[in-house]
Amino acid sequence: MSADVIVVGAGVIGAATAFHLSLLDAGDVLVLDRDHVGSGMSSRSSALVRMHYAFGPEVELAVRSDQMFDAWPQLVGAPHCVRRTGFVRIVLPGEEPQLRANVAMQQARGAKVELIDGATLAEVAPGLVAYDVTWAAWEEHGGYGNGSVVAGDMLEAARRGGVGYRPHSAVRSLLRRGDRVVGVETDAGAELAGTVVLAAGVWSPPLLAGVGLRLPIEGELHHVAVLKHEAGRGARVACIDSTTQTYFRPEGSPETTLVGAFAGSPIDLPDSAPPGPDPAELAAIAASASRRVPALQDAGITGGVIGVYDMTPDARPLLGIVPGLDGLVVAAGFSGMGFKISPAVGEALAELVTTGDSTRVDLRPFRPSRFDEGEPISPPFPYSDD
Ligand SMILES: Cc1cc2nc3c(=O)[nH]c(=O)nc-3n(C[C@H](O)[C@H](O)[C@H](O)COP(=O)(O)OP(=O)(O)OC[C@H]3O[C@@H](n4cnc5c(N)ncnc54)[C@H](O)[C@@H]3O)c2cc1C
Repeated sequence: MSADVIVVGAGVIGAATAFHLSLLDAGDVLVLDRDHVGSGMSSRSSALVRMHYAFGPEVELAVRSDQMFDAWPQLVGAPHCVRRTGFVRIVLPGEEPQLRANVAMQQARGAKVELIDGATLAEVAPGLVAYDVTWAAWEEHGGYGNGSVVAGDMLEAARRGGVGYRPHSAVRSLLRRGDRVVGVETDAGAELAGTVVLAAGVWSPPLLAGVGLRLPIEGELHHVAVLKHEAGRGARVACIDSTTQTYFRPEGSPETTLVGAFAGSPIDLPDSAPPGPDPAELAAIAASASRRVPALQDAGITGGVIGVYDMTPDARPLLGIVPGLDGLVVAAGFSGMGFKISPAVGEALAELVTTGDSTRVDLRPFRPSRFDEGEPISPPFPYSDD
């Protein structure tokens, strides 16, 4: 069999790409997943939605995605998928000048973000210690979603638009003929395609290696704790807090808060993660976050998640074609930030596949060859722990 475009992987990135391909003149599009839609790292995602980045094109991807999240019912025919709790970014003491510069840059790109002082932080984010904060970035429209839901919604809409989907269909290898990827080899045989979009998340490196590409993607294991506390006393907003090296957000009910940590541990890709979370790690994350959210001090740990980030050297994704190898579009290495930008990444990749360029958001800074070319992404006002 053959298709015009094969998308490998039905996480948020593959599903978004398939959805946007269904809106364009892309011909026959087929999505293959070795498991099922939204079952990969998208299902483990803490799924924070924020515009706060230090690199302009990332802000543009987040802003564009947020517009699509706002229009979700009209766009994909499913209920709204983001809970708008508000989002706070607290930086390390001394990094307020970078915060100020980044907020100005974000506002210039259409992000709904403002600087607030500690007193205002105490008002908008009850339950958070605010006395040590001079300035923070506040996004009233920020919040969180759910990776499996977003992947499922977009794939469902793609299928209504004519996209084919085959779950439980593992791609064993990409098929290469000369300087071109011409399809994929599956358990059921070869599938030829004009273009293959590789969106297999942390499972992408071995497929790339099979066609001679060694892109710099390393695994990093992350723990996320779900904590139960007195109702209404935990996190009521989503927050990334450099001073405690944690992020947190409400988790559905007023009695639960989800907490993750900045730091992870190196892990071989793709399938060497332990079967479940380490209770000691979960307790350590809870203790760190409780310095910002005191109600977490005596909270019980009711659940935990482990997931793997696909890290690149500059912690930004690899998006686009690889010079010298036609027929392949790479969408991997999302470095723990792929959820909130997925709708816009899919839109840009679909445009790239169908026209050879991406005009709404410029993907060139994210090109997979940037490290070989000595041009890793380097924002003008980085945070020391970003
Ligand atoms: C713990 C954790 C917390 C996170 N928190 C956030 C956050 O707060 N905000 C944010 O924006 N991002 C966050 N992220 C990152 C975000 O979740 C990921 O970047 C995003 O979900 C990756 O989507 P994906 O489609 O690239 O990969 P996946 O969702 O992993 O999808 C890849 C798919 O490919 C399939 N596949 C793999 N190999 C093959 C094969 N050989 N053949 C066919 N199919 C295959 C898999 O089954 C899977 O469905 C977090 C990630 C983790 C792990």
